[in-house]
Amino acid sequence: MSQAVNDSTGSANRDPAELEKFSALAHRWWDPNSEFKPLHDINPLRLELIERTVGGLRDKSVLDVGCGGGILAESLAGRGANVKGVDLAERPLKVARLHLLESGAKVDYEQIAAEDLAARQPQSFDVVCCMEMLEHVPDPAQTIRACATLAKPGGHLFFSTLNRNPKSYLYAIIGAEYVLRLLPRGTHDWARFIRPSELSRMCRNAGLQTGALTGMSYNPLTRSYSLGKDVSVNYLLACRA
Ligand code: SAH
Repeated sequence: MSQAVNDSTGSANRDPAELEKFSALAHRWWDPNSEFKPLHDINPLRLELIERTVGGLRDKSVLDVGCGGGILAESLAGRGANVKGVDLAERPLKVARLHLLESGAKVDYEQIAAEDLAARQPQSFDVVCCMEMLEHVPDPAQTIRACATLAKPGGHLFFSTLNRNPKSYLYAIIGAEYVLRLLPRGTHDWARFIRPSELSRMCRNAGLQTGALTGMSYNPLTRSYSLGKDVSVNYLLACRA
């Protein structure tokens, strides 16, 4: 009798060079002044937005796809959600697990592709987040379909990524990687950035209802982020399953 091979990281929808980039930096994930500073800075903003949109996170089952070292996952758990975090890079997940010892937070981390988890447990989560990850995968539409499958009917989904236009090239590549050196050179590939219209279409094609589009803009003078209408660089799309 043949047995199906259970390769939990078997999805083709990943770019090993991208995963390696995140693994190489993983030990600095929780340093708020490291390459991950932008994620630390935007985290309170996106957490508030998620909590407000969902209407409270206590006892909700939440999945964080591409969770990395767990910045968002831990903060969601801090609001009372039952959080599972998945990623395909090994070292960020190790860092995420280690950080739980320090913070006392409870998150269930697993190294598995969203597509494989979707096959294993469809319609399982009240909330699915996929933040700052779609611009690092070869086929973002496939990831979105997997997220749609993972959400319970009526569940909330949140996708954030980077817009693709001359300003995002200037801000996210030239500004962040070359001038301010917030990020290491080569962190982002501008060609993989996704316009809001493209993200919305991918979500609708996955059977989702698209909701509010919110910008997360960086002010280089105050060196801080704020939420608003300006979706020209970083932005977040809320959807319902
Ligand atoms: N979502 C987190 C981390 C963003 S960094 C946050 O916003 O705080 C991008 C993360 O996506 C990295 O941890 C990287 O390992 C992960 N990633 C990239 N490609 C992936 C894939 N195909 N499947 C799962 N995770 C992936």
